[in-house]
Amino acid sequence: MNCNLLLGVFVILTVTFASWASEEKINGPVIGIDLGTTYSCVGIFTNGHVEIITNEQGNRITPSWVAWTDEERLVGEAAKNQGSLNPKNTVFNVKRFIGRKFNDSTVKEDIANLPYKIFNKDNTPHIEISYKGEKKHYKPEEISAIILQKMKSIAEDYLGRPVNHAVITVPAYFNDAQRQATKDAGVIAGLTVLRIINEPTAAAIAFGLSETKEKNILVFDLGGGTFDVSILTIDNGIFEVLATNGDTHLGGEDFDQRVINYLLDRFKQATKLDASKDARAIQRLRREVEHAKKTLSNLHKVHIEIESFFNGHNFKETLTRAKFEELNMHLFKRTLEPVKRVLEDAKLQKNQIDEIVLVGGSTRIPKIQSMIKDFFGKEPNKRINPDEAVAYGAATQGAVLSGMDEADKVLLLDVAPLSLGIETVGGVMAVLIPRNSHIPIRKSSTFSTYQDNQDRVLIQVYEGERTMTKDNHLLGNFDLSGIQPAPRGVPQIEVTFDVDVSGILTVSAEDKASGNTEKITITSDKGRLSEEEIQRMIQEAEESYEQDKEAKERAEARNSLENYAYTVRNIINDEEKSSKLSEEEKKTVEKAVKDAIKWLDLNPSAKKEELNEQLSSLRDVTAPIMSKTSTMENSFDDSNMSEHDEL
Ligand code: AMP
Repeated sequence: MNCNLLLGVFVILTVTFASWASEEKINGPVIGIDLGTTYSCVGIFTNGHVEIITNEQGNRITPSWVAWTDEERLVGEAAKNQGSLNPKNTVFNVKRFIGRKFNDSTVKEDIANLPYKIFNKDNTPHIEISYKGEKKHYKPEEISAIILQKMKSIAEDYLGRPVNHAVITVPAYFNDAQRQATKDAGVIAGLTVLRIINEPTAAAIAFGLSETKEKNILVFDLGGGTFDVSILTIDNGIFEVLATNGDTHLGGEDFDQRVINYLLDRFKQATKLDASKDARAIQRLRREVEHAKKTLSNLHKVHIEIESFFNGHNFKETLTRAKFEELNMHLFKRTLEPVKRVLEDAKLQKNQIDEIVLVGGSTRIPKIQSMIKDFFGKEPNKRINPDEAVAYGAATQGAVLSGMDEADKVLLLDVAPLSLGIETVGGVMAVLIPRNSHIPIRKSSTFSTYQDNQDRVLIQVYEGERTMTKDNHLLGNFDLSGIQPAPRGVPQIEVTFDVDVSGILTVSAEDKASGNTEKITITSDKGRLSEEEIQRMIQEAEESYEQDKEAKERAEARNSLENYAYTVRNIINDEEKSSKLSEEEKKTVEKAVKDAIKWLDLNPSAKKEELNEQLSSLRDVTAPIMSKTSTMENSFDDSNMSEHDEL
């Protein structure tokens, strides 16, 4: 194939910072992380099955939220819980911005609904928060890195050893830049990202482990921010993705937003007050609305009440399931369009789908379930927990990559979600890798010049389905000079597209005549991070990690001292338990405890070492006496206390 285009020899568009499974031997555990828009989930394959790991609150999913208070950085529930009091420094939904340009229309739309500040730097959305009196700026991948670091530490706490490797999932429609940015986030969090896999594929892995018969499966994944639908076949534990489709901007958050708008209107009708600009009020309403929505998946009616909502007015409304459905019906219906398209792409009729798998918290909505049932004429499968299936599959894939025998049977074939190609003369897209090609894949085509003696060419790489490149998404470009003078159409320029197992694209080009070996790396055009930036962010992430760890240890040391002091005091105050002690002994203990409590009050920011020192002095004075209180002897066993300290 001879098309007109520009360029030269050996150009690499992609910078890869992490090493890949095939290139290294993996030591240690490999976790699977579902890095969700609203919630994240982490799992590990161990003892022949996947364990979904609970966080410190005992929850199996963790809000993808990060916040900065006057004293510290918070992640997960702690961040979400204080969101309404601290809306400007509480960051969520960042997955909507990762790997995107600031001028993307969806970015503009999203910013309008968020209480924290997002600004434009180098046409990339940046987040601004203030911390300890200073303004701090973060790229979306840095925020995602904080969430990944949290998931890593949840797994480390559970396993009791360091975790350095992960498989991370992304929506099937994430483009190359979004995948790369997610991978960068993993690197910043101190993880070697073995593979980025599509969320619906991960869910199908979770679902299909026990399948032996050949089946066509449709994965309907409606989460907090994104909607993905994929058709896969499973045969004897082998997965093949036939087609994917979806909407990067449809999910539970959008349903919440419709309800929020409606309730604000109701409030305005009743009070003539507009609360829509009050970040704190909106944040509180958002929490209540999400809660109400979940309740409506089980009940038909819910009451929403918020005290002192705005300008001293309370908020009180009743929301029925019917009203919720009416407000969102057009959004619910929008999910069926990608379903139809994915069937067309896979060349399947709806009656050829054997299983419909529901994934994502929003598939708990009864209307969504009944719509799917009506469309396919059969019940969707709810065997796997919709919140956990993706992390479950990612953990299974992690086990495969780390060479665990039990997981060996799972093999994964994936597809390129969008067509990839370059611009040729007149702005026409020449596709090298058609959409839904199996990956990994490598394809080459030969191009030529369009003018006599043309000595340079510009190669512009696009993804998308439209004929004209202006309607597609530019991934990057590079300029090659030094082509030997020749009549138009004579030079042969071989362009090679290589998509790796994670869907990450490398483009190389070679001028056959000159053998030109010039190499260009395109990073800035793609909003990619430079090596230095990555290193800086890794360092910052590590520093914050240490700070967070110190704060946690300090709090734990404080707790240990307080616990010890109060336990001792309670025993002394209990006549029965302290009956074997003399009055003098009691007085000695009481004084030591009182001094310790006073010291705690006077030293609110005491260091861990100082707190530990206080505890051991208190223990030195009290333990010999307390050991006589036979009932509680074990409480004062030194080994018990030291275990406590380490928590
Ligand atoms: P995911 O990103 O898959 O964790 O999905 C999170 C989204 O699911 C959020 O928007 C939640 O509000 C929503 N969600 C979770 N549970 C329910 C439920 N029982 N009914 C309706 N929506 C839910």
